[in-house]
Amino acid sequence: MPPFARILIDRSEGRKLDYSVPTDLLDQVTVGSRVIVMVRNRRVVGTVIELLDDSDVAGIRPLEALVGEETSLPPIMMRLGHWMADYYCAPIASVMRSMLPPMMRGETIAGRKVRMVSLVGMIKAEELKRIEKSAPKQAAILKHFETFSEPISTQELLSRCDASESSLKALVGGGWIRIDLERRRGVEFENEEILPGKIPKLNADQQGVVSALERSLDEVDANATAPSPYLLHGVTGSGKTEVYLRALARTLDSGKSGLVLVPEIALTPQTVERFRSRFDHAGTKGAGVAVLHSHLTDAERREEWMRLQRGEARIAIGARSAVFAPLKNLGIIIVDEEHENTYKQEETPRYHARDVAVMRGRLEKALVILGSATPSVESFQNVQRGKYTLLQLPRRADGQLMPLIRVVDLRLQGKRSKSEGGLSAPLQMAITKRLEAGQQTILFLNRRGYSTSMLCHQCGHVCRCPNCSLSLTLHRADNRLACHLCGHGTKPPERCPECKDPGIQHSGIGTQRVEETIRRLFPKARLARMDADTMSRRGSYADVLGKFRACQIDILLGTQMIAKGLDFPNVTLVGIINADIGLHSPDFRAGERTFQLLTQVAGRAGRGETEGEVIVQTFSPASPSIQHARHHDYAGFFEQEISFREAFRHPPFTRMILIKVRGVSLEKTTRSADLIAKVLRIKAPSSVEVSEASPAPLERAHGQYRYQVTLKAKSGVVLARLVREVALEFKLPEGIILTVDVDPYSLI
Ligand code: ADP
Ligand code: ZN
Repeated sequence: MPPFARILIDRSEGRKLDYSVPTDLLDQVTVGSRVIVMVRNRRVVGTVIELLDDSDVAGIRPLEALVGEETSLPPIMMRLGHWMADYYCAPIASVMRSMLPPMMRGETIAGRKVRMVSLVGMIKAEELKRIEKSAPKQAAILKHFETFSEPISTQELLSRCDASESSLKALVGGGWIRIDLERRRGVEFENEEILPGKIPKLNADQQGVVSALERSLDEVDANATAPSPYLLHGVTGSGKTEVYLRALARTLDSGKSGLVLVPEIALTPQTVERFRSRFDHAGTKGAGVAVLHSHLTDAERREEWMRLQRGEARIAIGARSAVFAPLKNLGIIIVDEEHENTYKQEETPRYHARDVAVMRGRLEKALVILGSATPSVESFQNVQRGKYTLLQLPRRADGQLMPLIRVVDLRLQGKRSKSEGGLSAPLQMAITKRLEAGQQTILFLNRRGYSTSMLCHQCGHVCRCPNCSLSLTLHRADNRLACHLCGHGTKPPERCPECKDPGIQHSGIGTQRVEETIRRLFPKARLARMDADTMSRRGSYADVLGKFRACQIDILLGTQMIAKGLDFPNVTLVGIINADIGLHSPDFRAGERTFQLLTQVAGRAGRGETEGEVIVQTFSPASPSIQHARHHDYAGFFEQEISFREAFRHPPFTRMILIKVRGVSLEKTTRSADLIAKVLRIKAPSSVEVSEASPAPLERAHGQYRYQVTLKAKSGVVLARLVREVALEFKLPEGIILTVDVDPYSLI
């Protein structure tokens, strides 16, 4: 056994140090082991990345201890980690850290107790505004919890919000947050008796798909080669889950294990139950299901992790980070709702769990199934290119028809609809009908933009960039319309360029406004509002859904949160208050997102006995995304969308990297962003397009200015190399932070 080990130190931007391995640890330390070492006089944690026969370091010290042999990363995961670091231009240490759950990283063992901060109650927007005026740092901390509901360590929270202990203290004093050394144990799945579920007979479509998958699984077994991934395109309610269950059963039969990824929001007890009732009761010979989601306490997460590592559970189901679950002898990876943006991690390392899953499948020689009712353009294009194999479920499993989608043209509703706070006459009538019949309604309102597009309420015209065709963003500070992708800028028009109406203006009605309207128009209706403002408390999401399911709520008003994967038989009406907010967001995926959203939302209506109806309100009724969604025409949508992407050289025809620069000083931030863009342009080969530095659509956040530079090229490899060599090596002035986002999803 080589007596020396090269250690990659966590939190050190890739610093590697050599240590000797004490004799008693020789046969336990392997590449991938997590170890504790002394750096200067502090105990820190790191990962063994290489074993060495020799080291020329003078005065080499022995490593202190193993974090625990369970936490070593197996060779395949080490390879996956190196691939991620390369591909996502991320520090390898941050990748290694993110591959383990918090308790397994060894941070608590390294002599530091981690204090976890969580939100106590919900915060009203008005209160947040008040706090923001008097104590901006405290407000920044509270805002963090708008996006991330799970507890977070004090250290991480303070560094993210650039705040200090005194802000935390004040918030604890005010009763807003709580700090725990160890979190309360959840009781969600405890002491629950699980009964084996009835296994339905497959319909003909499902049978065809399952047979193809079973053949493929058998082939993998026989030849030990990795097949190309499958894309399962099945309309909402087509019975994709049953297909997954059958493929998993076959995998378990051959002695292997299986990984199921679902978006965080779909990881409900209901979903988990479907898997556990098949694989986690007395009759299943200990297949066992481990569940990994962010609402688990760190201790629970560790326990689930250990069950997988010990082989007590052979199926893991979880959200994004479960892609790293320590399954032994992995035979299948399923990514449900593969188009979901929440698979993309929005902090370093900014990986996309679907793409990591495909890579892990290749390394593990496991079958990969990506499933969706609205496959991402990237994945469907991979089918066209022959990289993925397409499987289809074109009909609903219960034989129901797809719901009827009606489009209401808001231009014709004119001033009237505005005075009614967002509800057009047809939508009001439809709601009345449901209330009278004792049926339920879901009203959907996309979150209001932080920045705005210019939209004419007379003709529906929207100001777009001539280069990118994205909606231009109005920056009020300097009264400029800007494309944040290429940097194109212009003065906002005083009249609509199309119909010359002087009333061209930004659009947007918030959820609160609509809530008031509904309360005024339907005072007797039982209404619940569900968005990040009202749902920050742990468990409130499940509360509201429980009540809705029990029909104690007539109208559910909410944002994205309510669009996904939920199955309510008594919902017969779904209303989309304003489809344009998504459609005109300054993002090349705006059309795709609108199509996905409408299709998914429509899938919520009419799951039971009665036929469903969907009403879409829009100023752009002719938009292809809306028209194709209305006709349940994925193929038509894809064809139109892919030609738009090609014409403007957007992904997947190019690969994109977004470089974001932020800082408190406007001058330093713009100067750094400009300089980076300039240097990149000088160093870039001609195949790479480098944009001007431009303000992010969300120009200022958490007291910092935000600028960005976009790079596009045919080859992702060329692009990543350029960024690693130029941008990451760039000497930044103090206080300026640079981040790199490969295959960005959030262009804000
Ligand atoms: P998807 O995930 O494709 O949206 P689901 O898997 O949720 O669809 O299935 C929709 C409904 O159809 C569920 O209630 C499920 O139990 C039911 N279902 C699925 N397959 C069958 C089948 N072969 N026979 C009867 N019902 C089925
Ligand atoms: Zn542009």
